[in-house]
Amino acid sequence: MGPDAVPPLPEAKVHRRPGSVLREDYRRNGFGGNVVCMKGQPGNRAIAPGRLALVQSFVNSLNVEFGPDEFATVEGFGGWLRRHGFDVPAPGELDRREAVILREALRALLREHNGGDADPAARGTVEHVARGCPLVVEFDGSGAIGLGPAQHGVRGAFATVLAAVTESVIEGSWQRLKACHEHACEWAFYDRSRNRTGRWCSMEICGTRSKMRAYRESRKRG
Ligand SMILES: [Zn+2]
Repeated sequence: MGPDAVPPLPEAKVHRRPGSVLREDYRRNGFGGNVVCMKGQPGNRAIAPGRLALVQSFVNSLNVEFGPDEFATVEGFGGWLRRHGFDVPAPGELDRREAVILREALRALLREHNGGDADPAARGTVEHVARGCPLVVEFDGSGAIGLGPAQHGVRGAFATVLAAVTESVIEGSWQRLKACHEHACEWAFYDRSRNRTGRWCSMEICGTRSKMRAYRESRKRG
C-alpha cells in the first residue's frame, strides 16, 4: 500500500451511528437550537440549509476579524464538538490541529465560490483529511439513505462535515456557501440570492467598507 493509498474501511460494528443525534436534530427542527454560534448571522442572513449548516458552523468557529477562535484550544474544540452532537470526550492536540487545517482548507474552497482563485493546495488538504475519515452508506430512522461516518470520535466528526459537503454538492447548495469577499472578514455565509451574486456577509458592513475602499483607491489613482 503506497503512502497515499486509502486505508481500508474499519469493521462495520457501529451500534449507534456517529453523528446521528445531530442529523435527527436537523431533521426535526430544521436546525438544532443547540448551535449557539450560528445565531445572529451578519446582515440578518439565514443559516445554510440542512447539514450544510454544520459546515458553515465549522468554518465560522473562527471569527477571522474579531476572534474568538473556538479551535484555539483542545477544550474549545471539544466544546464545539459536543455542542454539535458529537460524543468526543477529550480530543487531543493533534485532532485540534487537524481541525484547524481542515477548517482553513474549507474556507479556501468557500473563497473559490466567491470569485477567489482556485486553491489546489486546499483541495489537496481536504482530500488528505478525507482519506482518514471514511464514509459509509446508511439509512436513517425514516428509511432515507445517505452518507454517514464509519467511525466514532474526531474522525467521525470530520467525516460528518465532509459528508455534509458531499450532500450539498449533490443538492446544488454547495456553491452558495461562500467566504465573505472582504478579506478581513471571510465569514462563511449562505447566499440565497437568485443569481448567486452575493459577495459580502453583510452589505451594510463589509459591502460598504469594501466599496468605500475601492472609491478611495480610485480617487488616489484619478
Ligand atoms: Zn464580511
